[in-house]
Amino acid sequence: MSSVEKVDYVFKVVLIGDSAVGKSQILARFARNEFSLDSKATIGVEFQTRTLVIDHKSVKAQIWDTAGQERYRAVTSAYYRGALGALLVYDITKRQSFDHIPRWLEELRGHADKNIIIMLVGNKSDLEDERAVSTEDAKEFAEKENLFFLETSALQATNVESAFQTVLSEIFKIHS
Ligand code: GDP
Ligand code: MG
Repeated sequence: MSSVEKVDYVFKVVLIGDSAVGKSQILARFARNEFSLDSKATIGVEFQTRTLVIDHKSVKAQIWDTAGQERYRAVTSAYYRGALGALLVYDITKRQSFDHIPRWLEELRGHADKNIIIMLVGNKSDLEDERAVSTEDAKEFAEKENLFFLETSALQATNVESAFQTVLSEIFKIHS
């Protein structure tokens, strides 16, 4: 879409979760339909955008990616400011990345909009043989915490579109 075309809404969505769970590749898949197996730790770039149509309105998703600040509490409050949605990402092959989810959730809820739409994302679903977090455990946690939940593969482009679509259309319902 060219810059002269009208944008009806801009929604900020943040990506959070431990380092190496695949946040930057999820974003690359969504924003540019790209994937890289040897992605460097993210430096610099603050956000990427993609414009979609929801209910005949043009919605620009502004997706923020951490600039390698995934150490607990290193993500600044500016990162969360104004965010209406979040993808809370863990790696299904790394138990620790799932065990850290409650901390990320607490930090998110402490900083973001009170109506923020949160999607719990179990990434790397293509690595089924190395799975360390069951779908059931994650689903149960998501239900308890009132989060949406999907397992994705940025590599195979599974459910990435769906994860963002769900978050953006739920934001749209509240803010349009
Ligand atoms: P980030 O630190 O959370 O931004 O993680 P990255 O996006 O940089 O990804 C970390 C590593 O995991 C990279 O080597 C990616 O290529 C790899 N990766 C990311 N998503 C997937 C996925 O869905 N499947 C597999 N097999 N590898 C992935
Ligand atoms: Mg990254």
